[in-house]
Amino acid sequence: MMNKSRSITEIFDEAKDFGLVITSDAPLATALNRSVDKPRLGLLAMTPRQLALKFGTLYFNKLYSKSELILEITRHSGKSLKYVHQSIEKILEIWNHTGLLESCELFLTQEKDFLKYLEKYKTVEYAMEKFDEKFYGDLKIAVAGYELFNELDKQVLPKIRAFPHKIELMKVEELKFNKTFLFNSTKDLINSVTALITPENQNETALIFNTDSELKDLLKSSLSKKGIKLEIKTYLKEDISVSNYLSFIESSFNVSDHLLKDIFFTESMFGINLDRKYSDFNLNSYILNYNENKILKSIFGLMKEIERLTFFELYNKLESISNKNFSKPLKDVLVNTELGDKKINPERLNTLIYFIINIEIEIDRLNEGVLFVNAGSSAFVDRQITVFIGLDESWTKLSPDKAYVDKSAEEKKNLEKFQILLSQGNEKIYFAQNIRNNTPVIPCYYFNILTGKNIKNFEDIFFSPVTAIHESPVKIPDSDFRHDLKSGPPVQIVYISPTSLNSFFKCPKKYSYEKLIKPTEKNYFLKGTLLHCFAEFYFNHPEYAKSNFDNLLDLIMEEFSGFVNEINSDAERSEFKVGMYVIMDFLDSLKNKIEYEFAKRKKDKIAENNFLFKKTKLEKKYLNTEKWLKAPYSCIIGKIDLTSGRTIVDYKSSRSGKSSEMLIKEFNLSRIKKDKADDANFQTISYITGKREDVPDSEINFIYLYLLLNFNEYIKGTAESGNSQTEVVYIPETFKRFIISPAFYDKLGHDIKSDLTLGEYRKIILDVFDEINFYDLSSLIEKLETRIHNFMIYEKNIQYKKFGKKKENTFRNDIIQPLLKSINSARKGSADFPFIYKDDADNFLKYVREIIDEINTFNVSDFPNRPVNDLRSVCQKCDYLNICPGNKLLTADEQ
Ligand code: SF4
Repeated sequence: MMNKSRSITEIFDEAKDFGLVITSDAPLATALNRSVDKPRLGLLAMTPRQLALKFGTLYFNKLYSKSELILEITRHSGKSLKYVHQSIEKILEIWNHTGLLESCELFLTQEKDFLKYLEKYKTVEYAMEKFDEKFYGDLKIAVAGYELFNELDKQVLPKIRAFPHKIELMKVEELKFNKTFLFNSTKDLINSVTALITPENQNETALIFNTDSELKDLLKSSLSKKGIKLEIKTYLKEDISVSNYLSFIESSFNVSDHLLKDIFFTESMFGINLDRKYSDFNLNSYILNYNENKILKSIFGLMKEIERLTFFELYNKLESISNKNFSKPLKDVLVNTELGDKKINPERLNTLIYFIINIEIEIDRLNEGVLFVNAGSSAFVDRQITVFIGLDESWTKLSPDKAYVDKSAEEKKNLEKFQILLSQGNEKIYFAQNIRNNTPVIPCYYFNILTGKNIKNFEDIFFSPVTAIHESPVKIPDSDFRHDLKSGPPVQIVYISPTSLNSFFKCPKKYSYEKLIKPTEKNYFLKGTLLHCFAEFYFNHPEYAKSNFDNLLDLIMEEFSGFVNEINSDAERSEFKVGMYVIMDFLDSLKNKIEYEFAKRKKDKIAENNFLFKKTKLEKKYLNTEKWLKAPYSCIIGKIDLTSGRTIVDYKSSRSGKSSEMLIKEFNLSRIKKDKADDANFQTISYITGKREDVPDSEINFIYLYLLLNFNEYIKGTAESGNSQTEVVYIPETFKRFIISPAFYDKLGHDIKSDLTLGEYRKIILDVFDEINFYDLSSLIEKLETRIHNFMIYEKNIQYKKFGKKKENTFRNDIIQPLLKSINSARKGSADFPFIYKDDADNFLKYVREIIDEINTFNVSDFPNRPVNDLRSVCQKCDYLNICPGNKLLTADEQ
């Protein structure tokens, strides 16, 4: 059973008449002292450490803090800071468990050399061990929560006089959860906590959570933005100017390899703006080509000469460039560690970072506002309103397997502290998350121990869970998601592009995110764009492009320079070169088949979005490239890379390609539903459906040119022209009409045709057409094989031997089935039958209209979280998972 602890008032009632109450729980001591309502000499309650500090400063010259001790030992022992720090942490841990410095020796190896320093540089632990109970005089003493004391704490308790009165902290009363709010996302959780806290209740509220988690920063920012004050311990390592100072040095060591995004931290440091569009650009070329800012240039200069500066010199220069004061405690650390006057190098930086990160130096604490409480190390919390956030496995404190640790006693202590913590506050609110970082959250293990149940998640009835989705307008600061999804008047759409269709199909919510969030320039997108530019340019000026190939390649590389560094430069250049060769070969092969559309108007001669025309000062001659397709009947909009008469060309710059069968399969909605797939792609069918409005009742050829598919062959010189293409063809007839047409019959090269005329073949097919699933070969065999066999053998009296066969079985397998396989290929698509039919396009058109209606409905309400086929995998791969509160990681189908 999970028990309640006694309230602070109940404990105070028992403690108030004592001269001194000793407790190891500092917040309890503070709360008891705060409860005192009569004048008295000295504090009512103190912790063993507070007592030892008081005792030690009277009896010893000086008590050293932990960081002072570590620095002294580092100086005198000649050992590294890291080694000294780890050794001292180990010694202090053992000392706390054993209570005696000399007994630490039993559990130490080389670290025992440091024990002498702990006698020399006295710390509060030393004062605890040497505590003299005469210090108490004749005070009447009580001990609150003796079970929570460690062995060193116990050293301050009287040993000669009678043992103090014990005050119990727990009572026999069950602690129950009335309601636990469950959130699907951190954003909702943060928003809900923020919405709860007001300036009026901030001094009454404590937030209890794992303060070592990301929640700390999120809560800090969100509450600060609302103007809420925070009572929170802040350490030097959390000071933004300190982390900026360290990041600045760290980034400077290999500045030539950096991308722009690696120095985004300098924006807040120096008040400059860096364009997110160029995030993945090489820093050097961004500064050379894209940003004129003088401050940025001087920062870059400073980074390049970092190893010529001392830590103090850099500190001063950064203060002067940013016009801001840096952290004073950082300067103290530079003095204390004696690094300030030394030249910066990676080893010294590591020492500094180690010191700042590992040796906790508290720098600030406001004495009002919301109290942040660390769930892993706290028990009593003196606040009326307590918000418990998380309650997950990170709240479980693991006792180490060490010879000096009494594991079962430690676990007992941890369980008691856990119950005390959950009992805190008059008004308790429990918040938990179902999933975090894409994985289900497991509740703290103590719940299992205390209830004797196997509690796997927060849906367990023990928590009395309720699902919460917060709709507050407060946003999580620093989130990438900076748009209000419901702002602005609803937009009604009449056209849709294949890309939008693909997104909407994947998930309507994903589509809505894509409409609202500006993408950053990505390496692969820019590469594709540049190769498209070349293709358009070459189409218009092939001779110029051939004789200026290297110049054009240089221009392209320059444009791509944001993504180029010394290591990848040659490889990138080769890729562009191959892509350009493939384009040239392809367009040369097409030259005599193109119906050129001449650009006549001045504005048509300007290639707005193609830098190669601008750089070479040449004009567009033809309208065939980068041509907008706007098909009002089909509601399709999009840009076609190259079109001529009944041909569409699309360039793809990835290293992989797709077969005709794959291209035809990927828009087959019934296949996607049946296979519970998520790999739909509507580009091919969209452009074909749209294009047929221009060329009704005609075949349309859609050619995909995979520019880098045969990269290795091109490099080796073994590539064959035509190998980089895949073609699909639109047949302006329904599938049914087509497979009984002379055109299809003529294409069949099978022996059987000599004895099965077109009319006979057609009749057999039509008799059972509606009963066949043409995508499924076994369905074709089941419905047609015997029919054809019986017709030929029994009705036409043809002998097997006419086909060189002796048995029925081989006649069926070798003569009839190849015909059925061809029909099956004609339906599924293959290199011989790469066909899309009129009814495919008609069905797609209906689907597009339904989608547009749906989008317009959602535009006035909201877009649902509806991953295709309810697949969890869609959410897992989704770029917006982290900002999507309704993602389906817990509820969708696992796949
Ligand atoms: S995370 Fe899932 S529900 Fe959310 S937008 Fe992406 S696919 Fe849709």
